[in-house]
Amino acid sequence: MAGPHAPTLAVDVDGTIWSCYERAFDEVERLTGDRLNLADMTSYDYLFDRYSREIGIQAFAFATEPSYCVSRTLYEGCEKALKSLKVLGINVRFVTHNHDPDRMRDPVTAWLQGIFGEVPVDVMHTSENKADHLLEIGAFGIVDDKPESLENVADLGLLAMTLVQPWNKDLVFERPDVNGFVSWDGFLRTFAGVTPCIEHSVFGGWHG
Ligand SMILES: [Mg+2]
Repeated sequence: MAGPHAPTLAVDVDGTIWSCYERAFDEVERLTGDRLNLADMTSYDYLFDRYSREIGIQAFAFATEPSYCVSRTLYEGCEKALKSLKVLGINVRFVTHNHDPDRMRDPVTAWLQGIFGEVPVDVMHTSENKADHLLEIGAFGIVDDKPESLENVADLGLLAMTLVQPWNKDLVFERPDVNGFVSWDGFLRTFAGVTPCIEHSVFGGWHG
């Protein structure tokens, strides 16, 4: 099991371990009359660019409403994959962006700790740089869906992984150091392939 000095992998929340978008689209429909699909989200800032900053913020604020946290459903395979990391000797630390971190911190922490136990949860303002935060907490990498965060982390030479989404698939294609996986069921296989040093210690040195 992972101890306090085990290597730490940061894991984003919205769009990485659960899909906040269907709910955001419900709010967009209420505000604009347009019904969007996930495939429409060809860029991370799609709602902001197509509509306005106000509508984008309002849609995501609705999707990440604190009282809705307990009703969120994780992507299939996510819980098992992240719990497996801990068994394999890797600490998970959730690192998430929000427009109102003070309002979000307690409910999202309670939701995640209800599933994953006493896992640390860092709720940062959307304007803050996750790559800088990774250096501060000593994480060796992140699983995130936001292209800007993935690029910043990869630029530092840290591990950048993402669940492939319509808004980051081009980046995964363009940058070999941004590692995509298409479902959480395939996460551990991708992870093992891009972390040979960790794999060596975690799996008892099968190839050593
Ligand atoms: Mg995200």
